[in-house]
Amino acid sequence: MAFHRSTRSGVTSWLYAWATLRDTEDAMLIQPADLLQEPLLLDETIPPSSIDYALDVRQTDALRVRGSAEILEEHRGPKDIVQDIRVRAHFEGGFELLCARCVDPIAQRVKGEFDLIFRPSGVDAEQGERSISEAETEIGYYEESGLSLEDVVREQVLLSLPDRSLCREDCKGLCPHCGGNRNENNCGCEEKQVDPRWSALKGFSTGIGSGAESGAK
Ligand SMILES: [Zn+2]
Ligand SMILES: [Zn+2]
Repeated sequence: MAFHRSTRSGVTSWLYAWATLRDTEDAMLIQPADLLQEPLLLDETIPPSSIDYALDVRQTDALRVRGSAEILEEHRGPKDIVQDIRVRAHFEGGFELLCARCVDPIAQRVKGEFDLIFRPSGVDAEQGERSISEAETEIGYYEESGLSLEDVVREQVLLSLPDRSLCREDCKGLCPHCGGNRNENNCGCEEKQVDPRWSALKGFSTGIGSGAESGAK
């Protein structure tokens, strides 16, 4: 699954990401019917490798998710009641990210909280799900089969990560010539490599020199 890091920061990615999520076999689906009597308490432990995050994000130990899910009824008309699902939770787990410069793995504890509202998919179809007002950009949609907790958590984990992670502030990155890790050894490629612009200038000055010589004869 291609998921560019820059999409993490924007809420615009929210709806888009919704369509790209995969179904996991043992995904936890939250359905309105489960919440009618009372809020559902969530205390889930998501094992590593059950969620695909991104090419440069890997979960390394159990991800704990604790919180609750409840129904929020939107009364849009006398007979038009929309059942939204509100999910509030805290998550925490161990992750491995890749350094944006040298691609070395970085172990990182990731935690965060969210409080989100999901509407039944299609309920806003008339006005277009993409044209919801600015204040409602945090609204997501759930399918008839239910709301997958894994999908919600996946998105929230990605949003909680920095756009770019570095193994250390002054990471020297990879050498563009030999691909070596410049934190580990100094390959010296830059000194060896002659900038092609300089060789062009050299040729140019030689040309002038020889021209002047021939002209002097
Ligand atoms: Zn690095
Ligand atoms: Zn090099």
